[in-house]
This record gives sequence, C-alpha cells and structure tokens, in this order.
Amino acid sequence: MNEYENPQAAVAATSIAPDLDCDVLVVGGGINGCGIARDLAGRGWRVVLCEKDDLASHTSSSSTKLIHGGLRYLEYYEFSLVRKALQEREVLLKSAPHIMWPLRFVMPHDPSMRPAWMVRIGLFMYDHLARREVLPGSRGVDLRTHAAGAPLKKSYRRGFVYSDGWVDDARLVVLNAMDARAKGAQVLTRTRCVGAQRGADGWTATLDGPQGERKVRARAVVNAAGPWAEAFLRGVAQSAKGETLATKSLRLVKGSHIVVPRLFEHDHAYIFQNPDKRIIFAIPYQQDFTLIGTTDVEISKDDPGAAKISQDEIDYLCTQASRYFEKPIVPADVVWTYSGVRPLLDDASGDPSAVTRDYLLEANATAAPLLSVWGGKITTFRKLAEDAADEVGKMLGQDRSQRPAWTGGAFLTGGDLSTWIGAPKRPDDDFERFVGAVQTRYSWLEARLARRLARAYGARVDTVLGDAQSMSDLGEEVAPGLHARELQYLRNEEWAVSAEDVLWRRSKLGLRYTPAQREQVEAWLRHHA
Ligand SMILES: Cc1cc2nc3c(=O)[nH]c(=O)nc-3n(C[C@H](O)[C@H](O)[C@H](O)COP(=O)(O)OP(=O)(O)OC[C@H]3O[C@@H](n4cnc5c(N)ncnc54)[C@H](O)[C@@H]3O)c2cc1C
Repeated sequence: MNEYENPQAAVAATSIAPDLDCDVLVVGGGINGCGIARDLAGRGWRVVLCEKDDLASHTSSSSTKLIHGGLRYLEYYEFSLVRKALQEREVLLKSAPHIMWPLRFVMPHDPSMRPAWMVRIGLFMYDHLARREVLPGSRGVDLRTHAAGAPLKKSYRRGFVYSDGWVDDARLVVLNAMDARAKGAQVLTRTRCVGAQRGADGWTATLDGPQGERKVRARAVVNAAGPWAEAFLRGVAQSAKGETLATKSLRLVKGSHIVVPRLFEHDHAYIFQNPDKRIIFAIPYQQDFTLIGTTDVEISKDDPGAAKISQDEIDYLCTQASRYFEKPIVPADVVWTYSGVRPLLDDASGDPSAVTRDYLLEANATAAPLLSVWGGKITTFRKLAEDAADEVGKMLGQDRSQRPAWTGGAFLTGGDLSTWIGAPKRPDDDFERFVGAVQTRYSWLEARLARRLARAYGARVDTVLGDAQSMSDLGEEVAPGLHARELQYLRNEEWAVSAEDVLWRRSKLGLRYTPAQREQVEAWLRHHA
C-alpha cells in the first residue's frame, strides 16, 4: 500500500519532507518553465522546478503543435517575432527528430480572401527572413493535379505550398524536464508553489506536493506560470515590504481544436483562410485522424485550467473547414477536442487574434531576483529559455561569459540518433533510417509498435525495452499495444502518475481506447504506484 492509498502514511510524509536549497526556483512545468530549468541546470545552476499538476498539463499540451514562423503574423508586421521563430525551426528539428518533423502546408487560393500577389509576397518573405537548410521553399501548385487538391471542393484550382514543422508539444516539455533532471535539476510535479516570500538576498517558498508542504530556499525565482503568471505575482509571491509585484496584465485567449477521423490520404497539412480574416489548420494527426483548429476566444482570468471547447467553437471549426473540403465536416464527426489558454501580454489590441504572440522577460532585481515570463510560443521556447537564463545569471552576478549558453546545438533527450544511424544528415530522413534500425535490432517487435516507440522515445527506445527479447518480455498488455514495461518506464522516468498523463500527454493512445481500456490503464497505475 502506498501513501495515496494510506492517508496516514501521507501525514507522516508531511512531517518528514525535507527542505530544499537551490539557486533558482522555477514555478511552472509547461514548455517555458521546463526549457528554462534545462538551460539553467546545464549552466551549472542548482535548480528546483515545481509544477502544480502534470508536466504540460495546460497550454503546452494544447497547442496546434506547429514549429512555425507564423505566416499570419506578417499581416500584423511582427517581423522580428517571425524571423526569430523561423530561425528556431531548424535548430529544433535537429535537436529531437523523433518528436518534430518538417511539414508541408497547402493554402488553397481563394481570391475573395487575400489576392494571390499578397500571398506570394508573404511567402517570399517567409522563405527569406531566415536561413533554411532542411526545409524546402514555397511554390504555387495546381490543385487539379496535386494530391492535396483531391479532397477539396473543385472550385479550388490553385494554391500555394510552403514549409513549417510539427512537434509533439507535450513530449517536448517532458524531454526538457528529463534533460533538466539529467543536468541536476529537481523536478517536482503535482507540487504547487503556495507562497514565496522575497527577502533582500533570497526567497523562501512553500511548496505543497504529494508529500505535504516543504520549504525551498532559493536565490532567485522564475515565474513561468503561463496563464497563472499574473495571479502568481498578485497572490503567491510576496515582497518584503508588501507592495505588489505585478506590473503587467495578461489577456487569456482560449483556443480549441477538434479531432475527426482522417479526411485525406496525403501527408500535407492545410491552412485555410476564413471570411473573418482568421486562418485555421487541418493537419494529419496520429496516422488515422485529422486535427482542425484553432479559435480565439477571450476568457476571464478566474480559472484558466477549466477552459473547454464550446458548441459555438465546434460549429465554427466545422463550418470553416467545410468551406474547403468536398465532404462537409459535422459536429457528429468529432472524436476528441481540446482547449488551451494563450497567456498573452496585454498590448491593448482590441481583437484577440491581433494580440502579440511574442514573449517578454521581465527582470526585477530590486531585492532577491525575480524573472517573469510573459507570453511566448512553443516554437521560441529554446530562445526564450536562453534569454531567461542569461537574465537570471546576470541578476545572480554571473553573466553569459561565465556561464555560456549551450542549447543551440544540443540534442534533447532521445534526440541523438547517432549510435543507431551514424552522423545526422536530414532530420526527416534520419528518423526513417532510425525506425529501420530499431526494427532490425528488435526484429520481434510488432512493426506498428516499433514505429510508435521510436517516435515517442527516440534513442531512448532501448531503455524502454531494456533486456526484452520477445513480445512476452514486455509484460502484461494493459491496453492494446501498451505493455507493462512501457508503463513502468513512463512512471519511473517521465513522472507519469495517472492514465490521463499516459494516454493524453506522454502519448495520444487515448484516441484509440474505449473507456474500459482507459480504466485498465488507470487501474494498473494505481496498483503499481
Ligand atoms: C490554442 C493554442 C494553439 C497554439 N499553437 C501554437 C503553435 O502551433 N505553435 C507554437 O509555437 N505555439 C503555439 N501556442 C502557444 C504555446 O502553446 C504557448 O505559448 C506555450 O505553451 C506556453 O507555455 P507556458 O509554459 O508559458 O504555459 P503552460 O504550459 O500553461 O505552463 C504553465 C504551468 O505553470 C503551472 N503553474 C501555475 N501556477 C503554479 C504554481 N503556483 N505552482 C506550480 N505550478 C504552477 C501550471 O499548472 C502550468 O502547467 C498555442 C497556444 C494555444 C493556446
């Protein structure tokens, strides 16, 4: 029996939870918190990260999952954001080719939206704002002959194709947390920062987690609480003199996605222009599905964690996608939905789509250092983390020359495939060669499972499989294609505790399981906690 099953054990644990001492306490286990913890730990700082729920349980698992410059931001003249994001695309693709890959996007031309010359100028800028080695440039296509034209209405005859990247956002967060831990950081999930008292030369924070409350002494605090970043400064962090630490305001903008059974056979994604000037994407998803999103709905700051798709959003996404696909998409087609909340810095734009997606780091060194992260994109997380670690270092008296940046050419956990396939060449080809190598080494592994494990774990696949020499060595098949050995790995190495952690974040197996099969996974995890 463990402490969850035996409340008295939990009480006992409360009284023995030891205090922690570190250089930097990072609050928030989304992409920004985990990216910053990784960067700081790699520079030799002693780091503790706390996340009140599971890693990536909020915005960072609810994105459209694009590594993109953001074509539409060009219309808002956000050239510096687009350039920064475009520059990051290839850096990221090389760092973890198992969870990120290049994706070609097709934009059917609709003269009633933007004229062709305007689209061409936008794509020319998109191609040239940053250097590309891997991603091909844009071009026009004839949708009457191109495979991407087949599922569309026949009135769409011309289109444009351009490149961006795809990322498994929730796994990206976990890989950052694992790398942070490998470099010495302590990562505490299901641990909420409930108080942080600022002194002249340090912070004393109270963390509330599975083992009860514990104190952390930290020289600096990083507020990477995403949609809760403003609330953290207003209600959790306390200055010595009692004045407010909040200087900025967030706008919380919900974005929702729907998942439907696969709408097309080819591997391109679509970007569709809507009459309201917004765009939506339709993206190949998890082999058998299509992901459609997103929306922009401003919400109140009361409870960002409770954001859910509304019927209006479902109708909107179905209607907009049906303007392009020959076969209409109806709400009854929807097999899954998810919603996330963009923590956007309030720049006084009226339209939520127009609020800047760029990030701002706010350093406050009037007493013990505090760094707050405002806004950001998955795409720019590495650069954001690098800038944040520079700032924190400066405030702690050791700048970049003493603790240099290091993530630009570094792999993420499982991303270095060289022991399997030799020196990397192109991330997309490298991954296919890697799958071949996995299938050769584990010839007994079912092909579909080999590919899924290669995608999820990259070079760590041999740690997951361990000494297994046959399918039966993988242990009980808890749900179709999910064996005890993988669950043990997720529990021991990736902080997975519940079926939701496993089925909707570490993987998307939830899409394929019945409620009874999901319950089997929950029961296994409960039993083996
Ligand atoms: C619909 C949508 C689509 C998007 N699409 C893309 C895209 O395609 N490409 C792209 O690059 N970006 C995209 N983004 C943006 C991107 O997802 C976000 O910028 C990013 O995930 C924000 O990460 P974060 O770490 O700041 O926030 P979060 O992921 O929300 O992490 C903050 C964490 O802090 C924790 N926390 C809060 N308070 C406390 C506390 N007191 N103690 C402990 N923990 C606490 C929360 O539980 C949370 O997990 C999209 C966003 C949305 C909403």
